[in-house]
Amino acid sequence: MEAVKVFKVGDRVEQMCLTCGEERGHVVASVTQKGRVTRVSCPICGSRVPFKSGATARVSKKADAPYDRARTYRRGQTIVHPNFGEGEVTAIIETGKMDVLFADRLRRLIHSEAQAG
Ligand SMILES: [Zn+2]
Repeated sequence: MEAVKVFKVGDRVEQMCLTCGEERGHVVASVTQKGRVTRVSCPICGSRVPFKSGATARVSKKADAPYDRARTYRRGQTIVHPNFGEGEVTAIIETGKMDVLFADRLRRLIHSEAQAG
C-alpha cells in the first residue's frame, strides 16, 4: 500500500516565498477534502499563496542551538527540539510563548521561562 501524505491546516510544507526571496517552510492554510494542499502562508511575511506541488523538501542546513525553555527567542531564530527536531521561530505570541515551525507542523512552545517566573 502506498502511503500518501494527507495534509491538515497547520502542517508544514516547503515552498519558495517570492516576497521573502527564499525557500522556507510554509504553513498549510487550506486543503482539499482529500488532504491535498491548496494554499499556504509564509510565517515570516504573512503572504498567502497557492501551493506549488513539486517544491523540493529541504533537510536541515546546519546544526543549531538546542531548544532551551529558559532562553528568550526572537522571530527567525532556528532551534533544535529533542522531540520535534529542527524548527524556526515564526512568531512571538506573548511573553513566554512562541510559535515554532517544525519539519511537520507548527507548534506552540514556551520560552524565556526564567524571566516569566
Ligand atoms: Zn515570506
